[in-house]
Amino acid sequence: MASRIEMETPLVELDGDEMTRVLWALVKERLILPWVDLRTEYYDLGIGNRDATDDAVTVEAAEAIKRRGVGVKCATITSNAARQAEYRLRALHPSPNATIRAVLDGTVFRRPIPIPGVKPSVAGWKKPIVIGRHAYGDVYKAAEMAIPGPGTVELVYRPREGGPERRILVADMAESGIVQGLHNLDGSIRSFARSCFNYALAEKLPLWFAAKDTISKTYDGRFKEIFREVYEAEYAEACASAGVEFFYTLIDDAVARVVRGEGGILWACKNYDGDVMSDLVASAFGSLAMMTSVLVSPTGVTEYEAAHGTVQQHYYRWQKGEKTSTNPVALIFAWTGALARRGELDGLPALGGFARRLEAASLKAIAEGDMTGDLARLADPAPARALDSWEFVDAVAARLEGP
Ligand code: NAP
Ligand code: MG
Repeated sequence: MASRIEMETPLVELDGDEMTRVLWALVKERLILPWVDLRTEYYDLGIGNRDATDDAVTVEAAEAIKRRGVGVKCATITSNAARQAEYRLRALHPSPNATIRAVLDGTVFRRPIPIPGVKPSVAGWKKPIVIGRHAYGDVYKAAEMAIPGPGTVELVYRPREGGPERRILVADMAESGIVQGLHNLDGSIRSFARSCFNYALAEKLPLWFAAKDTISKTYDGRFKEIFREVYEAEYAEACASAGVEFFYTLIDDAVARVVRGEGGILWACKNYDGDVMSDLVASAFGSLAMMTSVLVSPTGVTEYEAAHGTVQQHYYRWQKGEKTSTNPVALIFAWTGALARRGELDGLPALGGFARRLEAASLKAIAEGDMTGDLARLADPAPARALDSWEFVDAVAARLEGP
């Protein structure tokens, strides 16, 4: 065997829970350690350790990613009452992903891994569609009120520093009904725009942003304006020299163009649009187990993970001794994404080269009929038999070693 690839800066490694924790160790052991002299700064975000440290480990891990520039994360349990009882937790803690996103001020990009033999539901889609979802405000932080009967509803702005109030009429309501107040912040929109431009440049993808500024002239109009400002002031030159296009259109026009197009874009979505469209894109491309997720901060710090959760039901079966057919591809791609990014930042092309070979070996295994059950159900032609996770990892390792 050739000597292992040296690393310079450690990757920040965030271990996780249940079935993905089992596969995490397997992927490292069988697919990465034989080839890379892996250096990581390790944080155990397993639910037990998060509870034991009062969740301090999550914040420490997020700070480490910020300091080092690149992290890779396993899926983690978000605690709730049922999990508290199951794991005898002292307290409920916020979702680790929300904590990390808040520290990095980042945007999450979800990208399907195209599967050989599985055709997207939209026949024309030849390349992945990446969704960048703004993760702050709008309807997710709305104030809502049920209105019991006739009366007026107003919006009131009261400046913290004093000065005159401003108010406008929302509706003079003739009968009972409902109202909703939405907000967003210039700084959050600006960070979102920067993260999108950074991602588009890193991946050389055209960036589309869409809203409904013809109807919502002030609210959606502000989103449009901030994207335009950030583009012109900070990214126009870089985009021009990288050949990366920035395109603004109305959301309904964007939907029509995406369906008619062949994919291969970064689609920046407002919070609600991103919620809906990421599920649509994921299911149209096949399987949640083939979706990667990367958190990108406005300064270019990145954290890679699989989009799926801890695959709890498989874990219970594994605990009873079953070799489950859980798909590790999105976890493998989280590692390859992080290694390639580390290599790029440290000027180590061999790391990126290895990451691409490991990705190619994973897809080759699937293309040649070696796949886990979730894909076997979708593939045409269907393989004779689905592999368990260990057999699948062996099948990838064999292609990685082979010529
Ligand atoms: P999940 O873990 O994504 O699993 C839902 C179902 O999707 C599974 O039961 C399985 O279907 C299928 N699936 C997902 N990943 C798969 C894979 N790699 N291979 C094969 N099948 C796969 O979602 P969940 O059950 O709703 O959540 C479980 C735990 O994960 C929760 O505690 C939640 O808090 C956490 N979670 C964490 C993250 C994260 O850290 N990013 C994200 C989401 C959820 P079948 O059972 O039909 O095979
Ligand atoms: Mg959704």
